[in-house]
Amino acid sequence: MRSADPLILGAGPAGCAAAIALAQGGASPLLLDRRAAVGDPLCGGFMSWRTLAQLEAIGVQLDDLGGHRVDELRLFASGNDASVPLPQPALGLSRHALDSRLREAALAAGARLEVDTIRALSPGVALGQRQDWQADSLLLATGKHDVRGQSRPRASDDPALGLRLRLPASPTRDTLLGGAIELHLFDGGYVGIVLQEGGSANACMAVRKSVLARCDGDPAALVARLGEDSPALAARLGSDWQQAGIETIGAVPYGHIARQTEAGVFRLGDQAAVIPSLAGEGMAIAVASGTLAARHWLDGGADAAQAYQRAFAARASRPIRLATLGWHLAESRLGGRAGVALARLAPGIVRQFAEMARIPATASLARR
Ligand SMILES: Cc1cc2nc3c(=O)[nH]c(=O)nc-3n(C[C@H](O)[C@H](O)[C@H](O)COP(=O)(O)OP(=O)(O)OC[C@H]3O[C@@H](n4cnc5c(N)ncnc54)[C@H](O)[C@@H]3O)c2cc1C
Repeated sequence: MRSADPLILGAGPAGCAAAIALAQGGASPLLLDRRAAVGDPLCGGFMSWRTLAQLEAIGVQLDDLGGHRVDELRLFASGNDASVPLPQPALGLSRHALDSRLREAALAAGARLEVDTIRALSPGVALGQRQDWQADSLLLATGKHDVRGQSRPRASDDPALGLRLRLPASPTRDTLLGGAIELHLFDGGYVGIVLQEGGSANACMAVRKSVLARCDGDPAALVARLGEDSPALAARLGSDWQQAGIETIGAVPYGHIARQTEAGVFRLGDQAAVIPSLAGEGMAIAVASGTLAARHWLDGGADAAQAYQRAFAARASRPIRLATLGWHLAESRLGGRAGVALARLAPGIVRQFAEMARIPATASLARR
């Protein structure tokens, strides 16, 4: 039987935020995820002040999870560096810790969770590996993974790839990285490094496919080359990075915004809008989209999908435009140098830029 309650496909930040806001509004959402246990998805682990505010607005607290407080942005390029105070404090936290807290909060709010892998959608039906799930409203929140027939367009033949190293706690990294999010810029990409709970560090990079291809497609050879080129990066990677496995994710469609959708399908998180990861705002977008979709659904049910999608696309447009500009500058040698010089000479401009590349706060996420 077809359910009138919303069916949320994917229990990451976007899906859980939607589930929490829907349950708080009196609905009985069902979350579906392909994983029974929460993993530690590939992500930089930088939670912006806007992400924290969006979560607080739906009653999710992270204070007790031991995340690392971040007050400063440090930029490195071609042997130069600069630091800029962040507009507000941010947090370094693993996705395992965040996603676990979000799942708990969704279940505590009254959402239900089932495990299944969604293979494709057809009107009012999510085709799962275990069974087909029928619902008037489908909230597509599968994030980085596209469901068959719902692929997001790839704009470039030289797409960005994501790579991550999880580095163990070390006194040297603690001293070098304390209180900061660092972006090490290089020709064709960047490495972002931040400390997380327990003192471990997350080194996550976005790099053009062609740059990895020049290292024979070998992520370890790429990391070694970046360390040879940058003593500052080498100091942070230390001698133990080779023991950490390198995880990768292919072809991230940075800049994509879903401006339309099909009847009854609400696109959330990375399925709604993909901000270049350098901005550290993907999770704020995920939570904001989940919250806004819930508000639209509570107001208009399945029929509100198109209005929600248009409203969210309009909200996400400015931060994505600015972050895309920042990413393109940062991934060119000259642009990276200019960015560091600007951060030294006029830190206020970089700070302002960092603020403007955020999704508008929850309170101002008005319906359109
Ligand atoms: C290299 C890189 C670094 C990043 N660093 C940062 C950062 O530091 N800060 C930040 O804010 N953002 C960062 N981001 C962006 C951030 O990771 C994403 O924007 C965010 O994870 C999107 O959340 P989501 O809920 O839409 O999707 P996801 O986090 O991808 O969650 C999707 C969920 O859906 C489930 N799922 C997937 N497919 C299926 C299926 N077929 N059936 C059932 N379930 C399914 C998954 O198991 C998962 O639980 C980064 C991205 C990249 C690529």
